[in-house]
Amino acid sequence: MAQLADQEKVFELTGGRLCLDFANTLGGSRVSPKEYLTSYRDLVIWGRQAGVLSGPEAEHLAEAARRRPADAAKALAAAVGLRETIFKIFAAVIAGRDPEQADLSALGAGLSQAMVHLRVLPRAGGYAWGWADDREHLHRVIWPVVRSAAELLVSGEAFRVGRCAGEGCDGLFMDTSHNRSRRWCDMRSCGNRAKARRHHARKKERP
Ligand SMILES: [Zn+2]
Repeated sequence: MAQLADQEKVFELTGGRLCLDFANTLGGSRVSPKEYLTSYRDLVIWGRQAGVLSGPEAEHLAEAARRRPADAAKALAAAVGLRETIFKIFAAVIAGRDPEQADLSALGAGLSQAMVHLRVLPRAGGYAWGWADDREHLHRVIWPVVRSAAELLVSGEAFRVGRCAGEGCDGLFMDTSHNRSRRWCDMRSCGNRAKARRHHARKKERP
């Protein structure tokens, strides 16, 4: 049986919030996108890399998906739908517009489905928020993502969400810089490409 680690893709986790990292699983721009979630397995791998699932939980969920491929396909479609809802809401916030009512409603519906599974769990020395031990639930990866989006919206920090200025990139990120000067989803990719382009343009100006 194929293990999750075989030829596993590595997701960019530079958004600074779970919901923004999830929005960034559609790469490129929304006009010319590159889909990184091409199977339910990808969703599980993302969940493990993002810290939503432990290694054993991820293996267990991937196995459940193999047994129920039609349900897994539906869960992936629902997750991708919520991802685009989350992107559209934050894109509106970034542009200074009100999000579409339909998008807020879709987020609300996802939230109410997720919160049914929220629990108070005993932890060393106290209690913590956690999720129902529902290891077979194919939607479980999206629950903390939806919660993260809702929490960010009501936190008063939504104004810090930025959108990458890179050409052909719509990466979202938390801009925690003092004067909100972060421009790139990732300095190593989009930031460096822009720097190289500027360098190239300058060289052309003075031969
Ligand atoms: Zn970018």
